[in-house]
Amino acid sequence: MNQNAKWIKSPVDTGAAAVTFRRQIALRGEVSRAVLCVTAAGVYKAELGGERVGTDVLAPGITSYRRRVQYETHDVTALLKEDTTLDISVGAGWAVGFYGYKGNEKSYADQVAALASLHIVYTDGTEEDIVTDERFEVFTNEVTFTDLYNGETVDKTAVPQRLGFAVLSEVAFPAVPRVGERIVENERLRPHRLIVTPKGERVLDFGQNLTGYVSLRVKGRRGDKIVLHHAEVLDGEGNFYTANLRSAKNECTYVLSGGEDTFKPTYSFQGFRYVRLTEYPMESVELDAFRAIAVHSELKRTGCFETGNEKLRQLYHNTLWGQKGNYLDIPTDCPQRDERLGWTGDAQVFARTAAIQFDVENFFRKWLGDMALEQGKDGRVYGIVPDCFALDKYKTRVSAAWGDAACIIPWEMYRAYGNEENLRECFPMMKKWVEYQRGAGPEEYLWLGGYHYGDWLAMDAGEDSYLGATSCDLIASAFYAYSCSLLVKAGEALGEDMTEYRALHANVKRAFREYFMENGMPKAALPIVRTGEKSNEVNAGVTQTALTLILHFGLCEENEREALAARLVSLIKENGGLMATGFVGTPYLLHALSENGYASVAYDLLLEERNPSWLYSVTHGATTIWEHWNGIKEDGSFWSTDMNSFNHYAYGSVFDWVFGAALGVKPSSPAYRTVSITPHPDRRLGYARARMKTRAGELCVYWYYKENTVLYEIEIPEGMTASLTLPSGYTETLGAGVYHFAEEA
Ligand code: BGC
Repeated sequence: MNQNAKWIKSPVDTGAAAVTFRRQIALRGEVSRAVLCVTAAGVYKAELGGERVGTDVLAPGITSYRRRVQYETHDVTALLKEDTTLDISVGAGWAVGFYGYKGNEKSYADQVAALASLHIVYTDGTEEDIVTDERFEVFTNEVTFTDLYNGETVDKTAVPQRLGFAVLSEVAFPAVPRVGERIVENERLRPHRLIVTPKGERVLDFGQNLTGYVSLRVKGRRGDKIVLHHAEVLDGEGNFYTANLRSAKNECTYVLSGGEDTFKPTYSFQGFRYVRLTEYPMESVELDAFRAIAVHSELKRTGCFETGNEKLRQLYHNTLWGQKGNYLDIPTDCPQRDERLGWTGDAQVFARTAAIQFDVENFFRKWLGDMALEQGKDGRVYGIVPDCFALDKYKTRVSAAWGDAACIIPWEMYRAYGNEENLRECFPMMKKWVEYQRGAGPEEYLWLGGYHYGDWLAMDAGEDSYLGATSCDLIASAFYAYSCSLLVKAGEALGEDMTEYRALHANVKRAFREYFMENGMPKAALPIVRTGEKSNEVNAGVTQTALTLILHFGLCEENEREALAARLVSLIKENGGLMATGFVGTPYLLHALSENGYASVAYDLLLEERNPSWLYSVTHGATTIWEHWNGIKEDGSFWSTDMNSFNHYAYGSVFDWVFGAALGVKPSSPAYRTVSITPHPDRRLGYARARMKTRAGELCVYWYYKENTVLYEIEIPEGMTASLTLPSGYTETLGAGVYHFAEEA
């Protein structure tokens, strides 16, 4: 980006209408090369002579704008053959529109703004730079309303109004070259069917819950209006249901030109499976005129799972789509309601699965960069990154298992990709987070008090609880120990002296055991510690989540494992064979079972269909992962209206167990250069196969049942070494090659 480029805005505030910044370009000669650097406060599209520049959409994505905004660099030589116009059209997007619940808007700027520079090299060797400044003119355009949550209005009859010359904007976002992945259009789905609901509404069903938008080709009378609404589900009666979107209207309005029109939003996106033709003046609905376009970060697929179990197959499909739908530039919680925020807890819960399914190295490098930029001086990390809540009263909590994303995700990325530079970039943030926990008090080695999200949405404190029953102090102190252990590993990988943090980890573990446990078991009821004006009022120590954390984070002695695991299994039995865990316990629950001799109980839970279970949503028609185990209840009613997303990927994290334990593939050194393969086959799946493209090559583990035998086929690429352990206890070290084994089932 040329340093002379200035942030410019419209001389007239057009509110929620998009504006176009325009500059006529008179070429001085033949162009040998031209490069456009462009970004915005808002969401932009750039055009040269009416031709769209680049194939990315929803640029510049969202970063911690006040600290950095990404700009894109485009080679535009081919578009600059003759005198032309440079148009940069900008809509509200994340920076200016509603973003963050509670009606938060204009988080980063009052008005949209643009920043760009066009560098032209002529064949005679001379150069020219055109930069955004007061010589740009500003026009209204056909997008008369746009908002991330509320949708977009495109009026093809609107006549562009000249608003005057651009003025300098107070926006001062530092512009940096793009760090993350581009946001692009991906799958295009044709509607499966047109439904007429009991209320008589016409609704398109795309068969898949997704994130993106609908494109529509249409010819009708000039000035006629089409209004589309988006929804994830139909209600029990089969009617279009939008209450769970809260205040987000997800409304697209299109005014027809009278000729052939193609409509789709440019500055906003929706989360939906169903589209209601709220207003549609044409007599017949031609399904082929509609496409649902999935929009997400450009990520290469790396992991593939296949199984003979149809419902598990669907769950995997749902997990993949959950990731696609929520990896739109940042890891969001959900893509549809008035939220779509970078919730740190959700992101850390799913990070390992994410890195198995897709190459997310750059995607996370960018987001973790924003996390580091926003980390408080005392090391605090808020619930969401980027933190769009400028006002203190809206600040999210500094919560255990959410803030721990600062240690967990850098480590997961290093585990998957082995990039030392990226780990080094995150190391100071990891350290500061552990120091925050250390100082969170009231004791150095425990994190007691504070205001947490608990075992978010767990089922063990009654239907209506958001926090679950598990003591928040226990969760916080367990994650303190876990983050500290990851910091130590990271420091060791980077060659840092970790003596102090090794000792800290030992002290935290000792203090944890003294405070929360007696005779090798967690204490049943724990005191509620109040350290601030807000505190959490849950205090159970013997819960599925508490036992899971103690086992999985290694907070017990080896000789205590057996009894703890047995207690976990008996808690599941006492709960009718069902899990009761929320965001915190669920990702580790199956690991805690299979790592301690209860793989078949883990499978019982994996294949359970009653509520709560992973397959409950599958048997109720889900095509993505639900936020709440029983978002739709048995009787067809909804769990709630305010916290009921049907595209919330967090519980899809069960696939790190499927790949890591059912198929048994785990890296034993970063980037899978050495792996351990310890499969836990189960007849109920018939067969299972994992194919994983790693930085060390593509490996494949496959097992299947034939009468009383389990057969294994394992493929190890050049450059990878695997240590195999089969259920019988048979072990072998495998180099590159294809191997076959058989064992009695
Ligand atoms: C989000 C969650 C998030 C939570 C914090 C919700 O509104 O959708 O997924 O982690 O708040 O507990």
